[in-house]
Amino acid sequence: MKLSKKLYLSFTALIIISIVIISFISNIMINRKFENYLIQERENKFQKIFDDINENYIDTNLLLDGMELKHYALSEDINITITSLNGEVLYDSNTRPKMGMMRRMHRQGMRRTPAGGNYTEKVYVLSQGNKDIAYLIIGYIDNDHLTQSAMLFKSTLYKSFTISGIITILISLIVSILLSKRLTEPLVKIRDTANEIQLGNLSAYSKVNTDVKEILELSDTINYLGNTLSHQEDIRRRYASDISHELRTPLSTLQSHIEAIIDGVWEPTREHLEILMSEIKRLTSLVDDLRDSFNAEEYNMILNKTRFNISQVVQDTVTSFIPVFNEKNYSLIHSIEENIEVFMDQDKFRQVMTNLLSNSFRYLDDKGKVSVELKRVESNIRIIIEDNGIGIKKENLPFIFNRFYRVDDSRNKDTGGTGLGLPIVKSIVEAHNGNIDIESKYKIGTKVIVYLPLP
Ligand code: ADP
Repeated sequence: MKLSKKLYLSFTALIIISIVIISFISNIMINRKFENYLIQERENKFQKIFDDINENYIDTNLLLDGMELKHYALSEDINITITSLNGEVLYDSNTRPKMGMMRRMHRQGMRRTPAGGNYTEKVYVLSQGNKDIAYLIIGYIDNDHLTQSAMLFKSTLYKSFTISGIITILISLIVSILLSKRLTEPLVKIRDTANEIQLGNLSAYSKVNTDVKEILELSDTINYLGNTLSHQEDIRRRYASDISHELRTPLSTLQSHIEAIIDGVWEPTREHLEILMSEIKRLTSLVDDLRDSFNAEEYNMILNKTRFNISQVVQDTVTSFIPVFNEKNYSLIHSIEENIEVFMDQDKFRQVMTNLLSNSFRYLDDKGKVSVELKRVESNIRIIIEDNGIGIKKENLPFIFNRFYRVDDSRNKDTGGTGLGLPIVKSIVEAHNGNIDIESKYKIGTKVIVYLPLP
């Protein structure tokens, strides 16, 4: 069912139910009050008749004006009897309102017969001064005009409820149609945008004109989703082209060399095979880096955190680099604050240290020197790896965390880098809520500063 239809059907059902409940309750309440009111009215009326007769129609000798009293009785639809104190009838209007009810009802064209009533008499004592002189007996049908007035009142009530009900339903229908239109229109727009995105138009944008918070949020979410998908699509394309580009170079080197060997132009000497081997090594390391890079960015990085002594791990990594540094006569010094405990993924942290140290080592010149510092700084630990290597030009610095970015390819040709080391380091550090910064001066050296929060 369409949302708009559902909305206005629900509205209408709600209104009808409310009207029925209101009519029912008010009917009962008003009826009860109204009957009490009518009984009270009748009492008042009889009291007035009694007062009137007591005052005007009886003189000391009980002289009665029969005609006047008869009129009275007829107009009020009652029977008036006056008896002496010992029961002798002094006057009887003979207007017992027995059939009166039926006649009158017929006259008023009422179809429904009220419950009817019993002939009832009410006795008052007529007196003069302090002396009781006679009885006034008022005879009436006990709920005759009660029923009639109540029915009249009820039918008026029903009519007014029906009319107001119809008007309310009409108004609510119009309001609900307008309202549901206002609600569903932006939703339809958002749905269309989502459909466009589904069909591949990732630049589709939903712009809705509404003041409903949830719908605005939904529209923003769809736009965000479109943006993210489009961004992901860009990343995927760039990734694919970067990867194929990166793989092509070593593969074509391998291919041309192997072809040369097959053609007999190139001897498969040890030296030549070692060249091929180095290309294969480069390919392997590229594939490893690619895998890490995917793990780090494309998917949620899963951290296997444990509590460990980071001072020890930094020390171990530094120690493992000493042989390669010695081989080239570079120096590696360190200042490591002892026994710092952290709660991190130890393997990933080792990878950070290894990547950063091998970068420093890789871009060293003669008299190369690298220093490693580990220190507690407020609620963080700070690691600084500083080298006096070739440095990075200012214009290249902003890009070094980009995937596959390598400063001046020809310069890096021999270093075997893939341009994936720093992006991996950055995502590991950030996954641990830390941050990394690189300062570098061309031909002077590079300083990498890593902050990681203490547990
Ligand atoms: P690579 O595998 O090529 O080293 P990275 O992402 O680790 O890739 O580094 C990106 C580029 O940043 C490198 O190609 C290099 O030019 C530069 N770079 C990184 N570390 C240093 C450093 N310590 N000294 C000089 N240049 C560096």
